[in-house]
Amino acid sequence: MSECTHLDQIQRVTPSANGCEDCLAIGDLWVHLRLCLTCGHVGCCDSSKNRHATKHYRSAGHPVVSSLEPGEEWAWCYVDQVALAPA
Ligand SMILES: [Zn+2]
Ligand SMILES: [Zn+2]
Ligand SMILES: [Zn+2]
Repeated sequence: MSECTHLDQIQRVTPSANGCEDCLAIGDLWVHLRLCLTCGHVGCCDSSKNRHATKHYRSAGHPVVSSLEPGEEWAWCYVDQVALAPA
């Protein structure tokens, strides 16, 4: 079983926007929201056509996101491909 080795990159972040900030910038729509736990970037999930959360991971190198959906408390590490238990 693999474990996430990036817990030191998780910060106390404040969501940067009320929606996917990259979709808001281009006037597009998203399905679900993901919060970057390193910098607070809000991006859309892989079910959204723009996949901004994954793009943020690729461009910024921030590995861990959590769900921003109400009632969802999981987090995910893109590098290790593992789900993290809620803190
Ligand atoms: Zn990790
Ligand atoms: Zn987006
Ligand atoms: Zn980030």
